[in-house]
Amino acid sequence: MQETSASIEIIALPAFSDNYLWLIRQAQFALVVDPGDAAVIAQALASANLQLKGILLTHHHADHVGGAMALQQHWQCPVYAPDSAHAAYQMPQVTRVKQGDQLTFEHFSGLYGEVIALPGHTLDHVAYYLNQQHLFSGDVLFGAGCGRLFEGTPAQMFASLQTIAALPLETQIYPAHEYTAHNIAFAQTVDPENMDLQQRAQTTASLRARGLPTLPTALKLELATNPFLRCEALSKQPAFMDWSAIDVFTELRARRNLF
Ligand SMILES: [Zn+2]
Repeated sequence: MQETSASIEIIALPAFSDNYLWLIRQAQFALVVDPGDAAVIAQALASANLQLKGILLTHHHADHVGGAMALQQHWQCPVYAPDSAHAAYQMPQVTRVKQGDQLTFEHFSGLYGEVIALPGHTLDHVAYYLNQQHLFSGDVLFGAGCGRLFEGTPAQMFASLQTIAALPLETQIYPAHEYTAHNIAFAQTVDPENMDLQQRAQTTASLRARGLPTLPTALKLELATNPFLRCEALSKQPAFMDWSAIDVFTELRARRNLF
């Protein structure tokens, strides 16, 4: 749970084996991002006596949209979804969103959002950037890692990660999966001298040993430790000497698939 300047709380709800469904709360009102499991959301709303006022979808995979239809039908709330024809988004009260769209949310004061297109994991993937501070990154950026390329090219994903890298350093990032520990183990195979990464391995192990989320994460920490954001720096190391940053990215993503 995190208190913010706009008096919102952002809460991680674990679901399935390693998903987080993010709930944004102000007073008795809530928004959810990628409600893959309606029952998890329903229970969280009931236990805190909250009313659901909006659903934000980053992409069409079932573990992100699976609960959206049932929640929308129960709460009659708006749904924000990528502007693509995918059947997963065909439900009532859908607002199609695309790069640069500005969002405001009824019932919430001082809360606004911007849509950022981040193709690569899927072609239609978007992120929601709330109050120029909180980035809900779906399956594009994970703690110390990035999503698989199911639909996009390495160049698309690389550009999407560069877009995230260019956000303000204070940005907090809310990925949809708890993959941080395994991603760090991989990162250490390609960036073994990175002291920030070694420090992060320790703090991550400590959090996981206590059953705590490693997320959200800070962009500043990702820039220092996430190999998929460090391709330019890695391209100057002996193992990748004279490679382009995007060639490093492509190689790292291929290796990570097998790790
Ligand atoms: Zn996905």
